[in-house]
Amino acid sequence: MGKRIVIALGGNALGKNLPEQMQAVKTTAKAIVDLIEEGHEVIVAHGNGPQVGMIQNAMAALTRSDPEKYILCPLSVCVAMSQGYIGYDLQNALREEMLDRGMTKGVTTVLTQVEVDPKDPAFRHPTKPIGAFMTKEEAKKLSQQGCAVIEDAGRGYRRVVASPRPQSIVELDTIKALVEAGQVVIACGGGGVPVFKTNGHHLKGAAAVIDKDFASSKLAQQLDADCLIILTAVEKVAIHYGKPDVRWLSELTPEKAQEYIEAGEFAPGSMLPKVQAAVEFAQSKPGRTALITLLEKAKDGVAGKTGTHIHR
Ligand code: ADP
Ligand code: MG
Repeated sequence: MGKRIVIALGGNALGKNLPEQMQAVKTTAKAIVDLIEEGHEVIVAHGNGPQVGMIQNAMAALTRSDPEKYILCPLSVCVAMSQGYIGYDLQNALREEMLDRGMTKGVTTVLTQVEVDPKDPAFRHPTKPIGAFMTKEEAKKLSQQGCAVIEDAGRGYRRVVASPRPQSIVELDTIKALVEAGQVVIACGGGGVPVFKTNGHHLKGAAAVIDKDFASSKLAQQLDADCLIILTAVEKVAIHYGKPDVRWLSELTPEKAQEYIEAGEFAPGSMLPKVQAAVEFAQSKPGRTALITLLEKAKDGVAGKTGTHIHR
């Protein structure tokens, strides 16, 4: 029987620039359509690090060219732009791959807003560097505009933003309706556009970025998915990663994962959020499984042949 699967695509599924992305989405589309062909309902989420960085740099250059005419583009708007750009390439590649296999499913990108808590402690400690390096003067100007700036290991100054946890997916009902109508949906790109509620119904964009692994886990929970697949650049999660006694894990319980997290086995900012997101999903309801594996191994992973499976 087909499962409902949320796939979270990592950086290697999209490449680092325009030509790389145009090429990479072809391989990515094959891996995704393999699962759709097997009868699974697939929802695709993805990261946006290099893309939102590119957009943010371009918009900052525009502001520098004429600060009177062009105010600094809010980060939330940059994230929305990245969802459109990446969604376009993925939508295009998925449509083509399905048509090549004689499949006539529709595919669509839902511009997704994700609610964050304005009281999230992450807002008091912005940690995520974004955009280009700046000179001391540029950094000073930006911090006068209310942006947090850090000196980055002697390489110059960079803007840093908060990475709050996702609380809920604003367009959840729309995504669900499309999935239930048999459509392939791309949603929560770049972790979603971070927003928070102000006076009544108004949602205001936050100067933050949401981790795509946590947003994908939230999406999978709220869609009542059977499986969360985090596709990345390693086939399995390891302990003693990068050491001679490295051990690759095929199965992992939430309890064991917690032990390894506490022992510092997973690098913050790369494998740690994936394992935490996978554990959250696996613990949210009996029968839910998370899988972390290589993009090219998605099909074998779902068949239980490889990858790290996290479940109770
Ligand atoms: P993505 O773009 O898919 O989010 P990341 O670079 O953020 O990719 O995270 C995946 C990377 O995490 C792997 O390529 C690997 O180098 C690194 N990593 C860190 N710790 C571990 C670990 N314990 N086991 C496996 N990979 C790890
Ligand atoms: Mg990552």
